[in-house]
Amino acid sequence: MPVSAVKGIGTHTCARLEKLGIASLFDILIHIPLRYEDRTRITPLDRLSVGERALTQGVVESVELVQGRRHSAICRIGEAGGASLNLRFFHYTARQLSCLSPGVQLRCFGEVRPGPFGPEMVHPEYHLLTQDLSAGLDRHLTATYPTTDGVRQQTLRALAREGLRRIDEGLAVLSDRLDADAKPTPAHPNLREALRLLHRPAPMEEPLLPAARERLAFEELLAQRLGLMRLRAETRQHGAPPLRLPLSLADDFRAGLPFPLTAAQQRVNAEIERDLGRERPMMRLLQGDVGSGKTVVAARAALTAVASGWQVAVMAPTELLAEQHFANISVWLAPLGVQTALLLGRFKGQQRIDRLEQIRTGDVGVIIGTHALFQREVRFDRLGLVIIDEQHRFGVHQRLALRDKGNREGLFPHQLIMTATPIPRTRAMVDYADLDFSIIDELPPGRTAVKTTATPGERRGEVIARIADWVARGRQAYWVCTLIDESELLQCEAAENTAQLLRDTLPGVRVGLLHGRLKGGDKDAVMQQFKQRELDLLVSTTVIEVGVDVPNAGLMIIENAERFGLAQLHQLRGRVGRGPGESFCVLLYQSPLSQTARQRLDILRRSHDGFEIAEKDWELRGSGELLGTRQTGVAGFRTAELPRDGGLLPRVAEVCDRLMREDPTAPELLIRRWVGQSMHYAEV
Ligand code: ADP
Ligand code: MG
Repeated sequence: MPVSAVKGIGTHTCARLEKLGIASLFDILIHIPLRYEDRTRITPLDRLSVGERALTQGVVESVELVQGRRHSAICRIGEAGGASLNLRFFHYTARQLSCLSPGVQLRCFGEVRPGPFGPEMVHPEYHLLTQDLSAGLDRHLTATYPTTDGVRQQTLRALAREGLRRIDEGLAVLSDRLDADAKPTPAHPNLREALRLLHRPAPMEEPLLPAARERLAFEELLAQRLGLMRLRAETRQHGAPPLRLPLSLADDFRAGLPFPLTAAQQRVNAEIERDLGRERPMMRLLQGDVGSGKTVVAARAALTAVASGWQVAVMAPTELLAEQHFANISVWLAPLGVQTALLLGRFKGQQRIDRLEQIRTGDVGVIIGTHALFQREVRFDRLGLVIIDEQHRFGVHQRLALRDKGNREGLFPHQLIMTATPIPRTRAMVDYADLDFSIIDELPPGRTAVKTTATPGERRGEVIARIADWVARGRQAYWVCTLIDESELLQCEAAENTAQLLRDTLPGVRVGLLHGRLKGGDKDAVMQQFKQRELDLLVSTTVIEVGVDVPNAGLMIIENAERFGLAQLHQLRGRVGRGPGESFCVLLYQSPLSQTARQRLDILRRSHDGFEIAEKDWELRGSGELLGTRQTGVAGFRTAELPRDGGLLPRVAEVCDRLMREDPTAPELLIRRWVGQSMHYAEV
């Protein structure tokens, strides 16, 4: 039931509630209070202590208007024993004051603070008592909710009350069976009880609140996974073009590569080939550490599609990376007669028109680009395979949008999603449950582990001297400026300043600068110069995070490393260690380091395995470290929080899979309630 249908809730309030993610009564019920206030007991005036939030009561003794820095009205209440309290109002109406005549009894709730005339409460909530002073005490704790401008606690409380009332009437509850399934252990409360506890706990029930919250988190995670599993089931009912790679072409492809494929690459190739040959869309997530060689796997899949008469869209997160993919893939595929083309946002005018036309008519087989591939004007002739690189930047919606583009005569394209950010196993259970997994767990031969050190910022000077030395030996280096949670503009400025500083300090070193605000062409120029050794040192923001491949660059300095996600640091570090000889990564940090920060940098110093790093990072974060969401890029939950609730996931998966087996339609209500709006099933 929408909140707009509740009496007294106008369109204005509705709009504001929407900001809090509250559209229905169910939404308010899963809007978990921040804290509770105890208004079940009255604290006598003589027992109040400063700093406490309390419910108290007394008889109005006087009302005075006080002139001060701000006008205020002070209503003094007292009790027989002589204790008194001032209620101070900065905003008041004449009518309000006239009700507060001496002798009237009132009850109020607020925080006790020291005031110029003794203890006071500023703008307490209050009401007048008519007769019996002990009448009408709350029996429950009063919830305080997270809120936003213009939504009062009273409104939220009233809505929660209404929601609970409807549940009491039997509306919106789950079937007994589903209710029993949607909890971590039989001892956890059922939904109705959990909601009642969270919004109206009795004072004695406070210890039960964590279990109640966990009950909701479990249900939410379950709904999330159910949603993805259903998406999976539905997608697998669609038809897809079976794609096959003729043996001779496979041989030619292999023979044209400058290296033999690793065993892991071959295994993954086979997994993909098997999926592509089916008449159902492949939905596969390919995980492989930085530098493990995913591009060549993508190229082979693309070849498979083109050889079967279908087009391929390859989507990269940045133009730089799209261009690099284009450079690699076109070199591998051109000798086999495959037309590859780039489509970038910066293509304008005739160039763009021509490109769109080639895509529409099917002249080109493989189209490589960025988000620009999503645009409405981009029409494919026969899209049979979608390859998305670096999945962490593309959400479920985009995944669906691109797939729908390919819908042709009821046939949907296959999907291959590639990521260098390994996803911890538990996390994958809710975020990627709609996908099958392939893993490249082996690096091409000849890679050396990057020697990683952590150095405090005070020793920058030494680090800079080291660069001079390194460059003198004919090698190249990266200097990565990271400023998290700052605007892109600030990041670019930081990089500019650092570049200037390094130019000044290192006169013999050719310093280049790369950041997000450079125009595409300029970025290219800088990258090209660096590749061709016309630059020795590349100062950049994290735009080089993905994909850049310059083997001679074997030294990387990363600033503010302590503030970055491990996965991202590992990605950055993956840019070095590709060439001959030893390579190094210096993690510059600002001291002092917190204990967790030290542990995290230690993980990175010791491990070079992206999967291990991801799991360790996850464990550390599960132990309470809060980190920006920037690196996860995954939609947040309403009541659950990962990794805190990660322990629930194995059981969530078990229940989910059983429900799907027994009766896939039964959990419909769960899915609709928790994730219905965020996944567009209607289009599926
Ligand atoms: P990523 O998985 O990070 O996308 P890339 O596909 O960019 O990795 O590959 C990294 C580098 O390794 C590239 O220069 C690529 O040509 C090279 N490479 C890929 N596979 C092999 C292999 N089997 N043997 C040697 N080099 C390889
Ligand atoms: Mg890559």
